[in-house]
Amino acid sequence: MTEGRNPEQGSLLDAQALAATAADPRTRIEELRREIEHHSYLYYAKDAPAISDGAFDSLVHELRALEAAHPEFYDPNSPTQRVGGYVGEQFAPIRHERRMYSLDDAMDEGELDAWLDRVEEAFGGMVDVVCELKIDGSSIALTYEDGNLVRGATRGDGTTGEDVTANVRTVKDLPLRLRPDARAGLADPTRAIELRGEVYMPKSSFNALNAAAEANGKQPFANPRNAAAGSLRQKDPAVTAGRDLSTFLYAVADERALSFGTQWELLQWLSEAGFHVNPDVELCRTRADVHDFCRRAVERRDSLPYEIDGVVVKVNSFSRQEEMGYTARAPRWAIAFKFPPEEKTTLLRDITVQVGRTGKLTPVAELEPVRVAGSTVARATLHNEDEVQRKDVRVGDTVIVRKAGDVIPEVLGPVEALRPADAEPWAMPATCPSCGSPVIREEGEADYRCISIDCPAQALERLLHWASRGAMDIDGMGEEIVSRLVEAGRVTDVADYYTLDAVELSLLDMGRVNKDGEPIRLGETVAKKLVAAIDASRTRPLARTLFGLGMRHVGKTTAEALAARYPSMDALVAATEEDLAAVEGVGPKIAHSVHLFLRTPDNVAVIERLRKHGVSLADAAPDEADELPQALAGLTFVLTGTLVQSGMTRDEAGAALKARGAKVSGSVSKKTSFVVAGEAAGSKYDKAVALGVPVLDEAALLRIIETGEAPVAEGDAEA
Ligand code: AMP
Repeated sequence: MTEGRNPEQGSLLDAQALAATAADPRTRIEELRREIEHHSYLYYAKDAPAISDGAFDSLVHELRALEAAHPEFYDPNSPTQRVGGYVGEQFAPIRHERRMYSLDDAMDEGELDAWLDRVEEAFGGMVDVVCELKIDGSSIALTYEDGNLVRGATRGDGTTGEDVTANVRTVKDLPLRLRPDARAGLADPTRAIELRGEVYMPKSSFNALNAAAEANGKQPFANPRNAAAGSLRQKDPAVTAGRDLSTFLYAVADERALSFGTQWELLQWLSEAGFHVNPDVELCRTRADVHDFCRRAVERRDSLPYEIDGVVVKVNSFSRQEEMGYTARAPRWAIAFKFPPEEKTTLLRDITVQVGRTGKLTPVAELEPVRVAGSTVARATLHNEDEVQRKDVRVGDTVIVRKAGDVIPEVLGPVEALRPADAEPWAMPATCPSCGSPVIREEGEADYRCISIDCPAQALERLLHWASRGAMDIDGMGEEIVSRLVEAGRVTDVADYYTLDAVELSLLDMGRVNKDGEPIRLGETVAKKLVAAIDASRTRPLARTLFGLGMRHVGKTTAEALAARYPSMDALVAATEEDLAAVEGVGPKIAHSVHLFLRTPDNVAVIERLRKHGVSLADAAPDEADELPQALAGLTFVLTGTLVQSGMTRDEAGAALKARGAKVSGSVSKKTSFVVAGEAAGSKYDKAVALGVPVLDEAALLRIIETGEAPVAEGDAEA
């Protein structure tokens, strides 16, 4: 197989990455090579990366995919053909006994399966593999002669590393002599043996080191991996000795030096010889076991005291390893399953502008879809014009996208070196993309707005907001149906919802046709449900109605505060701006907005039509006659265990007690009046006994609820 034309890399052929590239693959390949070289240098030579590992890997991945698709641009000096590393002049060069390879990456479970397929193909079925954690440190090669440590070297460019023997000797957990037990595993104990593994810095030591660096005004390390590499490559071994470095060993340069034949035995032997071997290793016989190990590793990642960036899966038998062989840069018999990166690069295809229900214009990044942290990201908000300009992202840019901890995706910024020559800085358009009216930006505000009353985009957003769950909760009234109603001219404001009937709705043209070319209509069943949902929304509490109207600055909490003080629309309309500003949690800005809204003729008309169509615009005053005697006022109850006789939940029982004036608390203290213990009551029961709080059974609870009378505590419970 020719170097660099490795068909295995076909599996890396990532359609997304390819599509994300500029029209001319050659230019893109060259740009990517330059950019990767630059970042490799910062990473390996300077121990000071400028972009995250995830973003770096993403660029390498794209380059590999392009090179696989365009073998005509093969170049032996491409960074994809080399093991990441650097040989400096500070240390004497050391030629490795055998090359120190990199590992091919599997970026997801699909690529892991592709590698397992190749293993199965090679041996006519699944063979034993060893799963190990991929320690995110710095590779190290250690030579022992006659059982004594004589040399330590970095990986360097894979062929030649740097002699860091003096520094390696200071790493506390490395044995300077092999234990005598190790002899049995050596094919020829008189010969030198080169062993390999990883030097790493535990997370806690890394944090302490960086805190100290910052306190002394020094540059902190970007991550524990760079801290380990940097610590190992110190001129003064005393500095290395002062850094908390540890090691895990997992390999031998030449397995012919050993008297056994598998990776699994090697790990046991390394441990017997006195090395630290990572305990999280597994000999797997099936694909399912391999996937399982990888998934567990992802879950455990954060709880480990050191950084890992994946799982390495290795064919167990050395002879099988030899059979599968190597590519120019990596063994074919192993694969690094990389954890879903939280940062990726992709193409920014466009910046569109979304119009919200209050007319706010939000720039949105339209991205070439890319998998980040386990899900596909195609859009991300860019918040406002200032933000776009601050990040200086431009249409056509390759951008870094992050999705940390499964939250909202974010565009971090461009990879400037990959910017097309004609990319222009972005500015907010002068007119609304929905209605074409001029947009304005008020002084001191970050947002542009479309202030046109007739803006259809705003109307749609307002209608959807009214029907949304937190507002009037009209089940089933989603974007598709509302859009069709708006297009049909049937609904323009929220009051129009209450004029719809089931027959009319059932005939609503959904804008699609069936296989016979007839228009698809909403249909009777859905229409009936919708009408019932509209009907149910007529009696929502006032707070939801106020929230649903979408007044500027009025979120759910503010709406609740307003409704609590003014339980009817009439009372609210009658309030002055000062009255409103005096409501707790409201203030002058919101008061102004509410006051203005309720006096704008169009809005008044909508509110009057809502009233006419039977939408409740007031909260029912609590009916005094319905109120139960507050016989339990002043008593605090704690409920524990399961209530079995009544079948009530604890919440229901608690509500019944509260309706009679009691307080219900979640924890037992001296102030607790009674603990009600259902079945299997636990620690709260024990605590009640310990504190001398009277305990009632469920029968007593039911009596209290039925009779409404306070229980009589035996003894002196309140004392
Ligand atoms: P990379 O540098 O991303 O190509 O990954 C290859 C490197 O992973 C090796 O050079 C090792 O330094 C490192 N590595 C960490 N843990 C292991 C492991 N358990 N087995 C093999 N390599 C590992």
